[in-house]
Amino acid sequence: MYKIALELTKNCNLRCSYCYQPRFTNTMDIETACRAIDLGIERAKVLPTRKLLISFFGGEPLLQFPQMVSLVEYSKSAADGYDIAYELTTNGTLLQARHIDFFAEHQFFLKVSIDGLPEDHNLNRRNPGNADSYQLVIRNLDLFMDYQRKLKKPIQVSMVISRNNYTHFLANIRHLADLGFRMFDTALNFTDCWSDQELAGLRAEYEQVVDLYFERIQNKRGFIWTFIDNGLMPQIKPRKNYYCGAGISSMYVNTEGELYPCYACFKDEVRIGSTAEGINEARANRFKHYQRELTGDCIDCSIQAYCPACDCLMMNMEQTNDFYTVPKMFCEHAKMRYELTNKLHHNPEWKRMLEMMSVPKGV
Ligand code: SF4
Ligand code: SF4
Repeated sequence: MYKIALELTKNCNLRCSYCYQPRFTNTMDIETACRAIDLGIERAKVLPTRKLLISFFGGEPLLQFPQMVSLVEYSKSAADGYDIAYELTTNGTLLQARHIDFFAEHQFFLKVSIDGLPEDHNLNRRNPGNADSYQLVIRNLDLFMDYQRKLKKPIQVSMVISRNNYTHFLANIRHLADLGFRMFDTALNFTDCWSDQELAGLRAEYEQVVDLYFERIQNKRGFIWTFIDNGLMPQIKPRKNYYCGAGISSMYVNTEGELYPCYACFKDEVRIGSTAEGINEARANRFKHYQRELTGDCIDCSIQAYCPACDCLMMNMEQTNDFYTVPKMFCEHAKMRYELTNKLHHNPEWKRMLEMMSVPKGV
């Protein structure tokens, strides 16, 4: 599957403390977006799966809902029978029933940003008018639950864990699971400067969440947590490297029509073209022929064979100006994830758990 992420706007109705978008209001014009979709379709056609995923991104893409409708229509007409799937990353606060009906009609995979309990959510996901941003998103809970039931697939909740909320991570994920969400993607706020003591505290929270994950599976109320999948997969199926294919099987298109491998790095070194010029093959092919080049502590690391952090070229470049140098924080997090999921991997109960695992598709 080829994936294009369209940054429909840099604008947003919230002012999250960890947002990486500059406070601009640029939006992507419709010609640029259509050209990006054409490029995506061309790429998708030569891949064995012949599928395209269009991911609407921001800022807050719901601010551009009419454009999104036009782009779905355009992509269906331009796809000429090829399979296209859609995804939306939203803060959920502007959502209305008419939007949800449209997303259901086109089978969108929804990713909604919620950090957990009201006090932790409002701490970082701030509303410029001081309105309670938790209430703005949770007032749509019935719409979310109906959506999960109707489409028989979970909505992904994207949670950001920061130094100011990590001690409540267990409470936050439990709260969201109790509300009926069944899929969680957690990202660390890497702009925070985490101390060793805080990392130890984070690890203790993670351990408790792994216990919750087990308990819920046993009680047939299981949920998906991408942290566990991302840690376990390399141990179940080790590979020579874990490069995700950014730049080869995916691209990120910003509001100006510049093409990048993914959302993690917008430095000129990694730019792979523009909608006006097309994909620069020489630049993109650098990633096609990727081979691991371990540096620093990675060279002698005992878990290097299972560590995806060494291969996350864009995060590495963004943070260290080098594709192969892993920032200390990413490395610490990778070790933590390996240790916690390795316990699962060697747990004799695990296979039985997997068989028992029933992640409800609806609620
Ligand atoms: S855990 Fe750290 S040192 Fe080990 S391979 Fe991963 S990034 Fe390198
Ligand atoms: S952040 Fe890393 S793993 Fe994710 S898409 Fe970018 S390069 Fe791939």
